[in-house]
Amino acid sequence: MTPTMAFEGSGTGIVYLVGAGPGDPGLLTLRAARILRRADVVVHDALVTPAVLKLANASAERIAVGKRGGRQYTRQEAIHRILIESARRAAVVVRLKGGDPFVFGRGGEEARALRAAGIRFRVVPGITAAVGAAAYAGIPLTHRELASTVTLVTGHEAAGRAPQHIDWDAIARVGGTLVIYMGMARLREICRRLIAAGLPADTPAAAIEWGTCRGQRTVTASLGSLADGAEREGIGAPAIVVIGTVVALRAELSWFERELPV
Ligand code: SAH
Repeated sequence: MTPTMAFEGSGTGIVYLVGAGPGDPGLLTLRAARILRRADVVVHDALVTPAVLKLANASAERIAVGKRGGRQYTRQEAIHRILIESARRAAVVVRLKGGDPFVFGRGGEEARALRAAGIRFRVVPGITAAVGAAAYAGIPLTHRELASTVTLVTGHEAAGRAPQHIDWDAIARVGGTLVIYMGMARLREICRRLIAAGLPADTPAAAIEWGTCRGQRTVTASLGSLADGAEREGIGAPAIVVIGTVVALRAELSWFERELPV
């Protein structure tokens, strides 16, 4: 069936904002996998791995959009236009995003644009990078004795891109576990600011690159030396930074990287 025939007579199609998870295709939800099989059009980010894309209907049209490491391929407004136009000519449009669509994924912006255009949408949550990468690195994000809170924060703000000011002093005061997305470009500055705000420089910290993927690499260090460690190992985006005493548990609980063939 061609995409244009698929919804004949029923107006526009429907857009599914689907979380693809952090990379390992086994971490997709059943719902995500089922919708991918039905997709006429798949509009995906650069971060979505080929292994996940392979789960889409073989005849589905694939459109790559978004950005990688801060380099914008497609402007956000253009992505909105692509989604709206796709829904006007195809029945099942999947907007496939890394991790979860509503966690630093601009899913909220896309949902608003679709609603404004009168196009139906559904949201399929995914495993966000913090949860996936920490699990595969052997770092429990909470622990009854070590961390009762988890704070997810974007590191982009330091580069002046996030519209909202991040209060690093307040974040340092919360304690618990801190997870930083998009933090690699400004890692040194972020660590410095957290230490200046009172977080001990010897707080355990980790940077996990390509979490849950075959090439996953993790550097552990103290907060004060994480930037040096990550630089020495050449850890770059996409990477998640985890800061807090729970990171020390990795020494005991690491499993995924240990079992990779050496
Ligand atoms: N919506 C996504 C986040 C998109 S922002 C989610 O819920 O996970 C992009 C950032 O996510 C990257 O800069 C990186 O910090 C993180 N990220 C995404 N995939 C990752 C992976 N496989 N391993 C480590 N970090 C990842």
